[in-house]
Amino acid sequence: MIPLLFLFVARLGQGGRGIEGMLLVLFLFAVLWVAPAAVAYHLGERRGLGLVGLLLGVFLSWLGVAVVLVLPGGTDEDQVRAERLAAGTHAVCPWCRELVRTGAVVCPHCRRDLPVA
Ligand SMILES: [Zn+2]
Repeated sequence: MIPLLFLFVARLGQGGRGIEGMLLVLFLFAVLWVAPAAVAYHLGERRGLGLVGLLLGVFLSWLGVAVVLVLPGGTDEDQVRAERLAAGTHAVCPWCRELVRTGAVVCPHCRRDLPVA
């Protein structure tokens, strides 16, 4: 992918006239390489896949961004857990530390009685 990209960009650059060709090469370099790498990194970072996203963006350009979007998140579970606790819809079981719905009287994970709030 990358060698093809370079070949493509270099050919376009030769076709250009002086500074315009140079600017075109820089522009394409930014659009086809730097931008997707940055976007993929940003998208991946939110799910603990920053480095993976960066590499995919660098090697696969915009295709890498699409790949990052469909990848299962590395820390998805932790994030969901934090969001549910913050939203107040779930609490942590004092016995097994699993998430249980707020107001539950028996933990569905360890079957022990939960203290009534
Ligand atoms: Zn429990």
